[in-house]
Amino acid sequence: MKENYSRNILLRCIVCGDIDLDYVENELTITCNRCGKEYPGGYDELVELNQSYIDEQIQGMETEIEKDAQKELDDAFKKVFKNSKYFKIK
Ligand SMILES: [Zn+2]
Repeated sequence: MKENYSRNILLRCIVCGDIDLDYVENELTITCNRCGKEYPGGYDELVELNQSYIDEQIQGMETEIEKDAQKELDDAFKKVFKNSKYFKIK
């Protein structure tokens, strides 16, 4: 598994779209540093509001992983065929 799969999904302010959010230590209230929008529901509220964006990001990651996995599989097959006396792959 490649490292970059574990990249963070950054939650965004739903008003201005900025990711510069002020995470209070206990994560009870989050404030946007750019537009000042407050999220009294804290982290949970923000996750809920970002749900479709998060889904999108996760889907993108899955596609990426699938693509890489497919390529590895193809390479493995090619290697097998190359090493075989009976098949030749250009
Ligand atoms: Zn904002």
